[in-house]
Amino acid sequence: MTDPRLTDTDRLAQAVKTGDRRALARAITLVESARRDHRGEADALLEALAGSGKQAMRIGLSGTPGVGKSTFIEALGCQLTDAGHKVAVLAVDPSSTRTGGSILGDKTRMERLSRQPNAFIRPSPSQTHLGGVARRTRDAVALCEAAGFDIVLIETVGVGQSETIVAEMSDLFVLLLAPAGGDELQGVKRGIMEIADLILVNKADGDLKSTAIRTAADYAGALRLMRKREGDPEVFPKAMTVSALDETGLSEAWAEMQNLAEYRKKTGFWALRRAEQARGWFADEVRQGLLRRLAEDPNAEAAMARLAEDVASGRRAPGSAAADVLQQLDADTD
Ligand code: GDP
Repeated sequence: MTDPRLTDTDRLAQAVKTGDRRALARAITLVESARRDHRGEADALLEALAGSGKQAMRIGLSGTPGVGKSTFIEALGCQLTDAGHKVAVLAVDPSSTRTGGSILGDKTRMERLSRQPNAFIRPSPSQTHLGGVARRTRDAVALCEAAGFDIVLIETVGVGQSETIVAEMSDLFVLLLAPAGGDELQGVKRGIMEIADLILVNKADGDLKSTAIRTAADYAGALRLMRKREGDPEVFPKAMTVSALDETGLSEAWAEMQNLAEYRKKTGFWALRRAEQARGWFADEVRQGLLRRLAEDPNAEAAMARLAEDVASGRRAPGSAAADVLQQLDADTD
């Protein structure tokens, strides 16, 4: 029996909580929507689901196109669902923000995993800017957790800012690399190595096996030179080889992820990082909200355009001109 006093949002929240994948997909569509009235509903939904106490292990995963991300996620994902986990895969695709196309591609990826009843795969939302994608992915992660998924993989392509965005919403960050001969270490930007907890050199099979082993050793050496992260065990960050195709090294890689997670939970760094992330998102939402308000206030916009000229020509000082715009915004809000 459905309670007639329940709103659509309440009903959707209840359905998400039962782990219904169709409801989860609908909920994610709602949080991805750019429509203002949808935003209100999305916020109500997220609020209704907040504090469910359910937490997933959020794993960020990055790598250049062709390195084997889908093959890896599919193989690991199937092993994890076989072991009784519920696995959600989300994607942050920076290409869709620029071209409307997609590097990650939504077509026939991870067919085997998508057939598992305990798996949920969601392609990247097409949005106009990366900030928007970040926010929506964050919300989608929260929805997956409320739906009882205990492992959420957030995949991204190794270009630009998207890695940092994904790392900031993950508990662990895994970087997938290809075997590389000689001096190709520098191909990976230092900043990316700094955020990686685990570097996996994929395709350690067939002719590529020995190169992969050498590459992993090179990265292990490079990682040793970097500062150990506070709260992590000595041996992290770590580099190792896997073959997503042959499915070798996957359980070892998973064991390392679990080790690190357990360690961080024990030392309290896990909770600390989560709290810090939540604080950051909250501040980010407030800032975004203020910017939206500014953009949507025609008087403030007009004042800004007018005063920009005054500032450019030196008639006004930037600080006091900005104060005028904010005053206009306050006046319109009251
Ligand atoms: P993505 O673009 O990073 O998602 O890469 P894909 O998973 O689509 O893989 C790109 C290509 O690399 C495909 O042809 C895969 O079959 C191949 N590939 C992926 N993992 C491995 C692996 O472990 N060993 C080998 N030899 N090939 C792999």
